[in-house]
Amino acid sequence: MLGPVILAASRSDRMRRLISAAPVTKQVVDRFIPGETVADIVPIIKDLTAKGLELTMDVVGEDITTPEQATAARDAYLALIEHLEQLELGERVEMSVKLSMFGQALEGGHELALANVRPVVEAAAAIGTTVTLDAEDHTTLDSMFAIHEELRKDFPQTGCVIQAYLFRTEADARRLAASGSRVRLVKGAYKEPAEVAYQQKHEIDKAYVRVLRILMEGEGYPMIGSHDPRLIAIAQELAHKAGRKLDEYEFQMLYGIRSDEHLRLAAEGHRMRVYTAYGTDWYGYFMRRLAEKPANLRFFLRSMVSK
Ligand code: FAD
Repeated sequence: MLGPVILAASRSDRMRRLISAAPVTKQVVDRFIPGETVADIVPIIKDLTAKGLELTMDVVGEDITTPEQATAARDAYLALIEHLEQLELGERVEMSVKLSMFGQALEGGHELALANVRPVVEAAAAIGTTVTLDAEDHTTLDSMFAIHEELRKDFPQTGCVIQAYLFRTEADARRLAASGSRVRLVKGAYKEPAEVAYQQKHEIDKAYVRVLRILMEGEGYPMIGSHDPRLIAIAQELAHKAGRKLDEYEFQMLYGIRSDEHLRLAAEGHRMRVYTAYGTDWYGYFMRRLAEKPANLRFFLRSMVSK
């Protein structure tokens, strides 16, 4: 019940101002977004990779309103890539980007987002790694898939995300699996209407398994983005049935969520990539994490009251 309310708040400027300014918020936010600058995040990258984990880095931010902010987003990723070059971790650390942060919703946004994200993908390729395009709300996806296809002409390793809760996703999965893409499958984190998306958890879980089967049996590289133990077990079973070796798919989880499971899967020989977000514009990302688990909201509210 609370999830949709929190997701609606995640798009409210008034709530953004209130929560971002609350004195105790930062310490609660740190669980999910463990730094604000590249300097904060480099020790975390070193620590997690030393533990056998791989990473996908997200500079938090979305729904920007000026072209200058889009350029700043591009530059933030380019600065990160410069630091990564020195760490020489290659594809063990890739990038995740939200096209709305690169200007997708502005006038001429499709071209603008493509123009801003291309240098990031190029710079990533130059240091032996890649970029995955996150999936945002359903109205942005045709543009995201078109940008993905365009980038793949020069950088075939560029990945994208599909969301099990959307009715369209089985068809997207078939197309992407046939073209040999790197595809992260997630349940979906936005508030979507019943015309386009399943609303019930059990329906979303069933759709997740159907799509997972398509990806595992296809020609691409599936990236299983979930913390759900049942789906992780099913993914292992489907990978085995499809004859995939351990390096022919990977698991992905979010920083700060089920961290023991990250290490357990890596210790079993799986590729385990941790989605690690950092930066100052954390509001939207943080609110989606609250919406996914009501206990997070209780913890957050308690921390405000106890201050
Ligand atoms: P759930 O059934 O929600 O969770 C299973 C269990 O995991 C829960 O019982 C709980 O123990 C734990 N858990 C899950 N979420 C939380 C949380 N926030 N706090 C504490 N515990 C939690 N969504 C998009 O729409 N677009 C994207 O591009 C996108 N990228 C993602 C990348 C990665 C690597 C991951 C893991 C998720 C991404 N998501 C994205 C979010 C995703 O859509 C889900 O909202 C999120 O993963 C929760 O679903 P779940 O599969 O973990 O299952």
